Amino acid sequence: MSEALRVSGTVLPEGERRDLYVVDGHVTYEPPAESTTVAEGWIVPGLVDAHCHVGLDPKGAVPEDVQEQQATDDRDAGTLLIRDCGTAADTRWIDDRADLPRIIRAGRHIARTKRYIRNYAHEVEPLELSDYVAQEAKRGDGWVKLVGDWIDRDIGDLGPCWPRDALEAAMRTAHDHGARVTAHVFGEHALPDLIGAGIDCIEHGTGLSTDLIDTMAANRVALVPTVKQLNNFPKYASAAGEKFPDYATHMTELFERRRETIGAAHEAGVPIYAGTDAGGVLPHGLIADEVAELATYGLSAVEALGAASWRAREWLGMPATLVEGAPADLVIYSSDPLADLRVLTSPSRIILRGRVVR
Ligand SMILES: [Zn+2]
Repeated sequence: MSEALRVSGTVLPEGERRDLYVVDGHVTYEPPAESTTVAEGWIVPGLVDAHCHVGLDPKGAVPEDVQEQQATDDRDAGTLLIRDCGTAADTRWIDDRADLPRIIRAGRHIARTKRYIRNYAHEVEPLELSDYVAQEAKRGDGWVKLVGDWIDRDIGDLGPCWPRDALEAAMRTAHDHGARVTAHVFGEHALPDLIGAGIDCIEHGTGLSTDLIDTMAANRVALVPTVKQLNNFPKYASAAGEKFPDYATHMTELFERRRETIGAAHEAGVPIYAGTDAGGVLPHGLIADEVAELATYGLSAVEALGAASWRAREWLGMPATLVEGAPADLVIYSSDPLADLRVLTSPSRIILRGRVVR
């Protein structure tokens, strides 16, 4: 048996003052004979980055030493559970490292030929989609990631990547393999077929309309809006500039109404989770910024933090809160993050799998 740790303070989200003990990697509230106090303060279930890419940089897959640094940056920001939303690298070795975050993988992105960032995705045609979905469902940890729309250079604007029948077959295949499906979608036109075909989650979702939002809420389809990433839309618009003016205008419009769109989804009851989209354009370790930004989209402090902690943990199949027997993944802050979300930028202690890692 390892040495028992004691953490005392206010346990969120319940807000009760308690002495929490860590014994053999798990939480207990029964005081052991001996324990060492390692932290006092506000105690939060390990943070979750629901859209992150370990193993990617803007050019594609990165080697293991860079992957390790990315995972460490996430961990040191309090992210102890990652839903990896697609990577071209093999990061499976991280599972053997008790000091790095737990990762739930979506395998490698599946995109239409020449319709995504170079070196990132399997680029395939509709007839091949189901086979690739089956392959990535087997490689991943219960998720498959599609690229639902991207610029179509022939029309000079965002356009759907897949016909409805290919999507229906893909969803069936994923669900038969026990995997959930999510898709990258910026615009409006890919969404009806993705949601109609039974998708489980939408990434970004800036093109959502009121009726699709109602369908998502009714079917419990999740939304990971990656609100920090949305701030890059003006940059993508100006980069497309004169060559693709319709695309540039479209991206600018999606950007300008982003708060209304995502706010309406939240208002309608669509489950929203925090995702930083680290690994492509954005650096790792920004979960605190993502939570603070989400709170400017109509989520209260407790809703925004829950989107990056207890609610996201439950969605991904982990115990939501620090109940008796839960894995000891927790972050401690010296003041109340619900009173001021900026507190999340400086964890005072991080405990992962029952060990102090920071
Ligand atoms: Zn992404």
